Amino acid sequence: MIKVAKFGGSSVANAEQFRKVKNIIESDPSRKFVVVSACGKTCREDHKVTDLLYLTHAHLKYGVSYEPIFSLIEEKYLGIAEELGLKTDLRAKFDQIRSIMKKDLSEDYLVSRGEYLTAVLMAEYLGFAFADAADVIRFRYDGSIDYDYTGKMLEQYARENKGVVVPGFYGAMPNGVIRVMSRGGSDVTGAVLANILNADVYENWTDVSGFYMADPKIVDHPYQIPRINYSELREMSYMGANVLHDDAVFPVKDKNIPINIRNTNEPDNPGTMIMENCAEYDRKEPPHFITGITGRKNYTVITAVRNHNEFETGFLRRILSVFESFNVPIETIPTTVDTVSVIVAGEKVSSCLYEIIGRIREELKPEELHIEEHVAIIAIVGRAMKQQPGISGRLISEFGNNGINIKVLSQTNAERCIEVGVLDRDFEKAIRCIYEKFIKEEGAVK
Ligand code: ASP
Repeated sequence: MIKVAKFGGSSVANAEQFRKVKNIIESDPSRKFVVVSACGKTCREDHKVTDLLYLTHAHLKYGVSYEPIFSLIEEKYLGIAEELGLKTDLRAKFDQIRSIMKKDLSEDYLVSRGEYLTAVLMAEYLGFAFADAADVIRFRYDGSIDYDYTGKMLEQYARENKGVVVPGFYGAMPNGVIRVMSRGGSDVTGAVLANILNADVYENWTDVSGFYMADPKIVDHPYQIPRINYSELREMSYMGANVLHDDAVFPVKDKNIPINIRNTNEPDNPGTMIMENCAEYDRKEPPHFITGITGRKNYTVITAVRNHNEFETGFLRRILSVFESFNVPIETIPTTVDTVSVIVAGEKVSSCLYEIIGRIREELKPEELHIEEHVAIIAIVGRAMKQQPGISGRLISEFGNNGINIKVLSQTNAERCIEVGVLDRDFEKAIRCIYEKFIKEEGAVK
């Protein structure tokens, strides 16, 4: 059994968190590959090391003194090393970074030092080998991961060591130059490792016990989602429930490796399992029809009415191409016989809304054209909704029972997600009432 365990910034924020990581690793010998982020915040007022490194680079670039910020980072790492009694010569490492800073230092190199330093310390603390991501994670020039090269390097480390720590978030180009991934990229490093090492599970340790059935800022102590499949995860995270970097899914999904979201501060909690196919588990323990409820506010709905539109082909294509020419992505397009509503994120359309309206008016000559702003979309997601008559009827009547007016409604043939548009001001109330009625009262999770 091989487990790849990735620990996010909050899990390595200070010496106490390092101790928790060690307990987790030592409690299961299959946790042989560890990926770490840079130190995150210890409290609200604290700063993430990666943010401080970006700031250091900005100061360096504009010739402003960076020392006060950079020394904060140094103190943080020195403090952890001292508290844990680690021997790594951190001062020498900081001196080396400083000397490169005086020459020609790239932003990517500097910000990658957060993960680098965390991994060096963690490797010593766990008694594992340190594998620098600059040596093992290789990008191609187009930015994709070179799996052949990365695979060879990782397999060599795996053969020669009982345990390995790899810094997340960065790798190197074929010419050896360090390059960072997008923010939150350590999740991707962990997923790449899991893919290459054919891990049985990819554990992603963070500060929440997995995905919740609704946003804890809206619903008090929502239930945790025990299992979720990748399609549901995509719907949930696209609509706002974010725990994992989007690109972390593909490397593991390809090989059918489950991702287990776990909480470093609550290691006995089994967390959420994300897997391609939940069928085997679902047979034993049938899931509730709602896996989770999520959503986002501030959509704009543009509705065009063209009477006897059913006789006219190309209307839909032409209206959508207006949005395309302004580079505005479309969220969803509910239609009826003569009416089409195009729903877009408010922030994506705010700078060109009136130009778009002008073009639609000119090119499509609709009889009516309406704009409605501040609409929220609530996504009710669940693999178990498929082929179950009556679900949407029950959901919709619950909105009615609570006096919430539905603005738009959509569901595809996959029957995995029902999207309900309401006014922004009804957003929280709508989520709460669906949660109360269908999840809490029905005891969705045992
Ligand atoms: N440290 C990087 C960030 O803050 C990468 C990561 O934590 O995954 O975005």
